[in-house]
Amino acid sequence: MSKSNVVLTIPEPHKFELVERPFPKIKAGYAVVKHEIAPVCLEGTRIWTKHDFEKFAGGMQSDYPDGLGHEGVGVVEEVLPGSNFKKGDRVLIFQGDWCGQCHACRNGLSLPYCDANITPKPGMTRVAMAGMQDWNESESGGWAMAKYRIAAEPHMYKIPDSLEFKYAAAGNCSVGVGYSNQEIMNVKAGDTVLVGGIGFIAMGHIISALYRNATVIALIRNPYRKGLLEKMGVQHFVDPNADDWLEQVKSVTYEERGPDHAAECSGIAFYQEKVCEATRMYGNVNFSGHTPGARLDFSPLDYITHPGHTFTGQHDVRMRDREGLVRCLMNKDVQRMIDAMVTHEFPMSKAGEAFDVQVSKKCGKVYLYPQQ
Ligand SMILES: [Zn+2]
Ligand SMILES: [Zn+2]
Repeated sequence: MSKSNVVLTIPEPHKFELVERPFPKIKAGYAVVKHEIAPVCLEGTRIWTKHDFEKFAGGMQSDYPDGLGHEGVGVVEEVLPGSNFKKGDRVLIFQGDWCGQCHACRNGLSLPYCDANITPKPGMTRVAMAGMQDWNESESGGWAMAKYRIAAEPHMYKIPDSLEFKYAAAGNCSVGVGYSNQEIMNVKAGDTVLVGGIGFIAMGHIISALYRNATVIALIRNPYRKGLLEKMGVQHFVDPNADDWLEQVKSVTYEERGPDHAAECSGIAFYQEKVCEATRMYGNVNFSGHTPGARLDFSPLDYITHPGHTFTGQHDVRMRDREGLVRCLMNKDVQRMIDAMVTHEFPMSKAGEAFDVQVSKKCGKVYLYPQQ
């Protein structure tokens, strides 16, 4: 009996279907991975409620109705002769395609900035995950919410046997994003980190900051998520609507000068303005949120030059940060915090319930299990 694939689709808002598709085909440089965990990212919000398949960084996100999921971990099922991988290897997958010859690839940067995820390869019309599926002349496997997915070998990271999939799966858009952005920000022991806009990206920042022995201050309104942060060990909470929110934030910091770093993770102006206002002179402001179309109206003199702030922000995980990230994910205290962050786990056959939970915001990170 020939093997097939099962792929998750959202044909219309609030409706999902599991569709049978041909087993993925691959060319040199790619592998078929039996996918074990597909963490929910944007699929559980705008795609589920509005069928809004948006693009970012040149089309990295799933822009096609069958294109759901980009994060994940699994076991190598098939490789071609000459591969550096073998059947049975356990891997953490970083999303998207690979060219090996662009600025991002040559400098170990994050793969949404790789040419292969921005410009179609010669003779191709689509990019990123769709382009990778086309390039392999495959009818399935480009995306992560499927029993089997195609991965580019340079974006497969062999994980140690002792690292459970549940913890490795935090290496993408939760702990992975926080860790890599904090490498850029140089967050270190003794620093103070203000985090605003608390969803799973913020939780990744918080876990990374606590791993680095920094002090975390959370700007938070959602009581459910505040409970999760308390479990992680966060001690300082400020309601951004309080009249004295800024004094409360500064009171936690050295000489009340304000936090050394701030990570804004919602992508909306409400929190962006606040983190800019609170950060100390010459501090770091990082934007890790994702809200297409959101606008921030600011005075460059007041927001950048007067405070001497450094602004950063990027998607995903830089290639050069992957080893440090995996070592972080093996840390027992980090794993304890991931246990707090991952509030819901569903078989892929119950994807609708997973997406509804995500929309409710009464969750941390939600995992789907494609084999179930
Ligand atoms: Zn590249
Ligand atoms: Zn993601």
